[in-house]
Amino acid sequence: MENTSIFNGIVQYEHEQVMLCHDKHTGLKAIIAIHNTVLGPALGGTRMWQYANDAEALEDALRLSRGMTYKAAVAGLNLGGGKAVIIGDSRKDKSEAFMRRYGKFVNNLGGKYITAEDVGTTTKDMEYIHMETKHVAGIPESMGGSGDPSPFTAYGVYMGMKAAAKHKWGSDSLNGKKVSIQGVGHVGIHIIEHLTKEGATVYFTDIFEDKIKAVQKQFPSAIFVKPEEIYGLQVDIYAPSALGATINDETIPQLKCEIIAGCANNQLKDEVKHAQMLKERNILYAPDFLVNAGGLINVYSELNGYNRKRVMEQCEYIYTIAMNVFEEAESKNITTAQAANQLAEKRIQSIANNKLYI
Ligand code: NAD
Repeated sequence: MENTSIFNGIVQYEHEQVMLCHDKHTGLKAIIAIHNTVLGPALGGTRMWQYANDAEALEDALRLSRGMTYKAAVAGLNLGGGKAVIIGDSRKDKSEAFMRRYGKFVNNLGGKYITAEDVGTTTKDMEYIHMETKHVAGIPESMGGSGDPSPFTAYGVYMGMKAAAKHKWGSDSLNGKKVSIQGVGHVGIHIIEHLTKEGATVYFTDIFEDKIKAVQKQFPSAIFVKPEEIYGLQVDIYAPSALGATINDETIPQLKCEIIAGCANNQLKDEVKHAQMLKERNILYAPDFLVNAGGLINVYSELNGYNRKRVMEQCEYIYTIAMNVFEEAESKNITTAQAANQLAEKRIQSIANNKLYI
């Protein structure tokens, strides 16, 4: 029997389980995707976004959850990969009842999936979800949680940028370097903080006026550019920090940077083709799931008795992992995305083999 279209992506990406959630009272429509639980429970944030259609939402959930498997594996965490998407406008459609109903769906999975914050959701939302389930991380510090993961994600990205600089230019100093950032939300603004502190020149863009104003107020030296201008800027480093799939056939020819290192998940529209195109253009790509693992490291710590010092050390270690990936890619003449994938797959396979024994 042929697969239906719903199963195509699930089979292609090798997902274990996908749950569709609906509630007529609150209007909730969500998809929870569990990719792989070999290393541990599937942890990944809940994204809320106005998708063009349901197929696009499913594709996003599948790609993002698969990315979480690789992210946890490469960061050395005992976690599997999962992700959820809520279909709707995060500025209008959310309410306490809406998020708590969603929390009940998460709870139904019995801990196989642990949720957290992502684009379109906040720590307040996690608080509502927590009223219905304990399988949520990134709850406010006042409730014993680790709070907003974004500063840790930003710190890890900054470490990844420095490692890339070291590999590319022989020095990890970003002083005097030009760095462009697409998206100055929760993470992007903290990346700017690290960069300006180190003396880099920052160019940034966003599509929301309030976000632009916040950066201009806090970092007056940062230079705003229009969204469509960000790809073609003559910079040293480009940091995609908004949504995924922005590195593609149309944008790669415009790029004039030497390094790509940002926090957005799934930056490459086609992981194989576009990683290869970047390699051919001699642009060093710091794999997104490697450099943006800081937030995951932070929420993981929450599950085991939160330890901020340990979290910072693990985020700093992203520098070392990234250096290893860049060197491996160079020595094997493969893309950095391939090298990072291989590192993750090797770890998952070796732990799966261990599970054969008591
Ligand atoms: P956010 O929603 O706070 O910020 C995203 C920003 O990008 C927003 O300000 C939005 O207006 C802007 N944006 C959207 N489309 C844009 C466009 N076309 N051009 C310019 N700006 C645009 O989200 P965030 O938490 O900062 O996360 C950003 C990215 O990093 C996402 O891809 C997310 O999945 C990823 N990520 C976040 C974390 C975390 O700790 N928050 C961890 C890992 C990965």
